[in-house]
Formats: sequence, structure tokens, C-alpha cells
Amino acid sequence: MRLHKPELVESFTLTEFDKHLLEQGNEVEAEARKLFPGAVLVSATGDQAVNETCRLMAGDTDAIFQATFLAGGFFAKCDVIKRGAMPGTWDLFEIKGTNSKKEGNEDRDHISDLGFQKHVLEFAGVTVGHANIVHLNKEYIRAGNLDVQALFTVSDSTDQVDALSAGLLEDMHAAREYLNKAIEPNIGCDCHLSGRSRHCRTFAYSHPEIPEYSVHDIVRIGQSKKKIEYLMDERIFVIDEVPDEYELGDAQLMQVRAHKSQKSIIDVGEIEQILGSYTFPLYFFDYETYAPAIPAFDGYGPYVKIPFQFSLHTLRDAETKPEHVEFLQLDRSDPTRAVAQLLDQYIDPKGTVIVWYAPFERGVNKEIGERLREYASQMERINGQVRDLRDIFAKQHYVHPDFRGSTSIKDVLPVVVPELSYDGMAIKEGTAASEQWWAMTAAGTEAGERTTIADALRAYCKLDSYAMYAIWRRLLGR
Ligand code: SF4
Repeated sequence: MRLHKPELVESFTLTEFDKHLLEQGNEVEAEARKLFPGAVLVSATGDQAVNETCRLMAGDTDAIFQATFLAGGFFAKCDVIKRGAMPGTWDLFEIKGTNSKKEGNEDRDHISDLGFQKHVLEFAGVTVGHANIVHLNKEYIRAGNLDVQALFTVSDSTDQVDALSAGLLEDMHAAREYLNKAIEPNIGCDCHLSGRSRHCRTFAYSHPEIPEYSVHDIVRIGQSKKKIEYLMDERIFVIDEVPDEYELGDAQLMQVRAHKSQKSIIDVGEIEQILGSYTFPLYFFDYETYAPAIPAFDGYGPYVKIPFQFSLHTLRDAETKPEHVEFLQLDRSDPTRAVAQLLDQYIDPKGTVIVWYAPFERGVNKEIGERLREYASQMERINGQVRDLRDIFAKQHYVHPDFRGSTSIKDVLPVVVPELSYDGMAIKEGTAASEQWWAMTAAGTEAGERTTIADALRAYCKLDSYAMYAIWRRLLGR
């Protein structure tokens, strides 16, 4: 698409999540480059970049960023090449924004990236010594200034790259042949054999025969190759056409049944039992976090979440209205202590803390306790009070055709409580909230912009905790 139909690819705008990934990748690369002092960056593009690379390699430059090669009909841009220990050789370094893996256990995609570069360098007459992956070190905990030597791990993946070499070369030739076809192949792409979460935004173009809501949206269908292959072989695309006798998992079956009948399926007994186990006061609680690849504060490692905001609706008894309190860290500093103190103050040892997707809130609380040992027992105590309202939907005690198999509060709320929804809000999902907090606290953001973002963040997080209260009420028939 990018090569032959760029107008189509350009028409897709980047999502907040895409932008977030790009930004994090750039930040990681900028830090990782500090591992190679004295390296020279190839800043040109296209043919000029190839010439500049040749010139630098012929000189006495020890390491090069963005070294560019065009050979054998392939084009490669390498994060870093560095002169190897053996005279005349160059080592390859691929920088990845992911956390480190066990030695010899690298992702196949990462190995393919390196293997591709190695082949192209060899076509260009360069002898490659070692092929390495530079990862973030998940064990690293920041203390003071960033220690880039400790922040990254460099794993020598030469053996894994060599093991993949022959097959990869075949794939490269097949890909080149495919890309050079004069006529667009009309066989679509392979994602019709994967669940919806794997599809990129060109899927609808490549598979116009598959509707926007299809069997690909059946919960966890992508995890069963056999099932999706059967459905595709039989050209069963719409959920209504899935045979009644077709063997599906429980959750899948409920989703299909609800869709076919266009009726919700509700297990009142199970719901009553879960809601009956909650004890007053009820604390409807929600965090917003930001997890930078490069730890921003002391005590944090790569991708450890900064709990920059929470919203809490407290219901003292069944007769009163919920009271609301919230917290938002307005500057870019560590909110851990403030959050721990406030939660300990607001949440009594008696009562139930209601969240949506408990592993998230529990995980953040646990990390707070690990950073602040003096609050470890309070955070553990609060975690003991946590109950997950989403369970009612995840365990299929309440299935509605309009959930479309989703248990996200964004999809459940407008169905269960139609008068409430996230539509029209300036911030309507968690990734955007994270990004906006980071933007709000950046040094150059003006006061007016900060206020606008802070208001949007407060409105968003407040709705998240209020939504749980509203769903809880509706489940009780109030
Ligand atoms: S839909 Fe899947 S297979 Fe098709 S182009 Fe996108 S990611 Fe690739």
C-alpha cells in the first residue's frame, strides 16, 4: 500500500496510540545513541544517505547512526553500525524500545530485522561481525541521573540471526517479487485469518467482502486458528451465519447467541450474588497513568506506570448520593507519595473498592507500595478490598448484542446506562489521557493550554469512576 497506493495510507490519520509509540521509540533511540559516543549520524536521505555512509565507512569513523545501504535490490537503514573486533568487520545494533528478553529468546521480528540488514550489508560487500539487539533493561531502577549503561542491555543475537538466514533470504526475494508486481494482487492479505485486534487499518480495503462487524470480532477468535480458518473456508463472515451447532467457547457462544437473537442474556442470580458481596461504603475508583519507556523519576524502571491522576466516588450507604474527590498531578514530578497519602486517608479499611479491570489498579497500588515501603501495608490493605465490576460482564453474567463482545467500560456504559457516554468528551480514552498529561506537564506548554488539558483530564477520569457507580445502580435496577 505504501509503495503503490500511498494516497490510501496517507488518508489514515495516526491514532493517539500510534503517536505514542512513535514518540516513545524516538526517545529510546535518542538515549540508546549515548552508548556510542563519537558516532556520526547520517542525516541525508535516499541515494545521498548511501553515499554519505560509504564516505564515513571509508574514513576513520568508528560508529554510524542510520547507516544506509542499497544493494541487491534491497534498501536497509541500520540504527547503528560499529567497527567490529575483527579488522574489516562491522557489527550491527538494532535498537528496540521493548524490555529485555532472556538471552537467545529474542522476538522473531527483531531477529528478522537484523537478518534483513545483514543480508543487505553483505550484498553491499560489507563483512558483518556480530548482530546485536539493544533493549531496555527491565531490572533497571532509576536513582538520580539516567545511567544509560545500566538502562540498556545489548544482546548478541548473531546465532539466532544466522539460524534464520537462509529462510529469510527466500522471504526477501518473495517480498521483492510481490512488491514489483505490475498488477495489484486481489487476494487480500492474511489478516482474514486473525482476530480483529491484529488488523491494521488497510484491512477494510484489502477485504471489502468482510463487514465492519464480523466473525473476526467474536471474542478471542484469533486465538483459535482452526476456528477462524473454518469460518473463512466456508466464507462465513457475518455472525448471523455462524451455524448454531458450530463448536465455540462459552463466551463466544454467548456473544453469537445475543447477536443472533438481538436480545441480552442476563444471569440475575449471579449478578445479585456478586453485588451482594460488596459492603458499604462503596469506593468507585479509577487511576490514570503514564508509563514512559525512559524512567522519568527515581524509583521507576522502564514502562513503570506513573499514577498521575485518580477519581474516587464514595457511596456511604444506599440512600445517599456519592461524594466525589480527585487528584491530578499538575507538574511533571513524582505523584507517588501524594497518591499513597490520599488513598490511605480516603479509603477506610471497611468497605469495598470497586474498579474496572482489577489487575490494573491492583498493579499500580502494588508498585506504589514497592516505591514507598512505609505505605506498603496500606496499599496491600486497599488491594484486599478491591473488587472488579467488569467481572459481571467478563464472566458473561450480562451479555448484550451491542457490547459486540467487548467488556470495555467505554462499550458497556452507553448500553447499560444510555444517558451516559464518552461521546463528545475532549478526552475519551486512557491512551489520550496519558499523552495529554505528558503534554500538559512539558516545559513549553502555556498556562492556558495546561488549564484546558487539566479540565479535560478531570472530566474524563471523573466519568470513569462515576460510570461504575451508574452501572452498579442500573444492575440493581435503580
Ligand atoms: S490487515 Fe494484517 S496482514 Fe493485512 S496489511 Fe494489515 S497487518 Fe498486514
